[in-house]
Amino acid sequence: MSAPLLTIDLDALADNWQRLAKLSRSETGATVKADGYGLGSSRVARRLAEAGARSFFIALAEEGLAIRKVLGNGPRIFVFSGHMDGDAAMLRELGLIPLLNSAEQMARHLETLPDHPYGVQLDSGMNRLGMEPPEWAAVRQIGLPNAPQLVMSHLACADEPDHAMNAQQRDAFVQMTQDLDAPRSLAATGGMLLGPDYHFDLSRPGVGLYGGLPFEDARAVAHLSLPVIQIRDVEPGETVGYGNTWTAARASRIATVAAGYADGIHRALSHKLQLWAGDQPCPTVGRISMDLIGVDVTDLPTPPETLDLLNARQTVDMLADAAGTIGYEILTSLGGRYRRRYLGGGA
Ligand SMILES: *Cc1c(COP(=O)(O)O)cnc(C)c1O
Repeated sequence: MSAPLLTIDLDALADNWQRLAKLSRSETGATVKADGYGLGSSRVARRLAEAGARSFFIALAEEGLAIRKVLGNGPRIFVFSGHMDGDAAMLRELGLIPLLNSAEQMARHLETLPDHPYGVQLDSGMNRLGMEPPEWAAVRQIGLPNAPQLVMSHLACADEPDHAMNAQQRDAFVQMTQDLDAPRSLAATGGMLLGPDYHFDLSRPGVGLYGGLPFEDARAVAHLSLPVIQIRDVEPGETVGYGNTWTAARASRIATVAAGYADGIHRALSHKLQLWAGDQPCPTVGRISMDLIGVDVTDLPTPPETLDLLNARQTVDMLADAAGTIGYEILTSLGGRYRRRYLGGGA
């Protein structure tokens, strides 16, 4: 049993959802795109539905299949990329609600699925997806078919509460929607934390559910433990790993663990990463390779069988800082080779 073990705590996930939901007086949905931020969208969606989530968000219609299967027909599933060419059958069969993000998508939707529910995605300044004010005005002038299920926009700087962009986008969103009779959504995790002015009718947190910043009170959901597959003694002056980038300054005991950059442990973490033996940190040494990492365990009283990469002391955001990225990327990079174990409800 030499595969690393990724443990996903579904009760912590549900708890994070409940605590975010308490921040808002309106509905709280859940963003489960990218396979539930790498943690397994079926298990995640089922547990969040048990916790009370009724509106789910995915990036692509294809992601809807697994989620609809576990959720049944009740909960709504919204698709951020809207109605893409060729998606009509899938949207209909899976009962997915596309968030139309251009006049072209609106036309496509009306042509192929005239009676199928839809939402609208507006651009309030991020310039990523969504209709800008003139395009939206033109679409409205032609007339919206039946009422949209949701009108939404997305904040570019919500993880920086003091950023002027937040209020600017909120104002732009209000301007584009104030005389519209449809539920509105602006906030993801960061937006929820900005306060009630940003909550509108439905929030759609993602990363905070999975234990990531900017939700500082989040409980860790992903725990990752790596098996030690060899321990060797290294003399002073000997080197470890590709490129001889680490040289032993003392007689050292080096553990080799079975995981590497192919498992989402970014090579940029070389020389910056530590693994944990219980409460004790152990520095990794040498370069992270595809399947293996060297760890200095000289100071441990007994040789470890496993070393932890993600635990209560080392969060996805700490790894992200060390790698020069964000917790989202650490989570969604977690590899397919891990053995996965789910703790908590939703069994
Ligand atoms: C990914 C995404 C979310 C969820 O964002 P988090 O920052 O993970 O909470 C919400 N809305 C849109 C449009 C997204 O792309």
